[in-house]
Amino acid sequence: MSRLDSFIRRMTAQRDILDQVCAEVAKMEGPVIEFGLGNGRTFHHLRERLPGRRIVAFDRALAAHASSIPEPENLVLGEIRETATRFIGIDAALVHADIGTGYEDRDAVTATWLPDLTARLLRVGGIAVSGTPLDHPRLQRLPPPPSVPADRYFICRRV
Ligand code: SAM
Repeated sequence: MSRLDSFIRRMTAQRDILDQVCAEVAKMEGPVIEFGLGNGRTFHHLRERLPGRRIVAFDRALAAHASSIPEPENLVLGEIRETATRFIGIDAALVHADIGTGYEDRDAVTATWLPDLTARLLRVGGIAVSGTPLDHPRLQRLPPPPSVPADRYFICRRV
């Protein structure tokens, strides 16, 4: 499979998962946490699917399209591992983490801190969606939509 095919599959999977979980998150109270604002495409999608919901977006630096920049109070710049700790207990309805690199060694380091941080940000019943694994006793794995290949994305519920 070419990298272009792979990219298209990844974006389609991401969109299908966000659409599936947003239907549930819409019925739940709590803000949304967006780890990895990047260009702001998924932030823009979440904002459309969850109108009026607070979305707090994190990245090392702002590089988003002008149409996809959060309000200053909802943009947190710096290393997520450090900056997000002050939001622990925020009772988020959704944590979306799009910070995978495609490099096994770097993603393995992320897997050492992201699951615990995610569990501490979510409300009970809240949902996490991540491109890197979320192995944690308080995060119960959920099945992806049928269009999404297994082990490409990780969807979990905070228990
Ligand atoms: N979801 C975005 C979109 O739809 O446009 C794309 C996100 S991009 C794949 C990943 C982003 O996560 C990059 O902008 C990178 O700077 C950021 N990132 C990755 N690891 C990070 C970390 N540990 N702390 C802060 N930002 C991080």
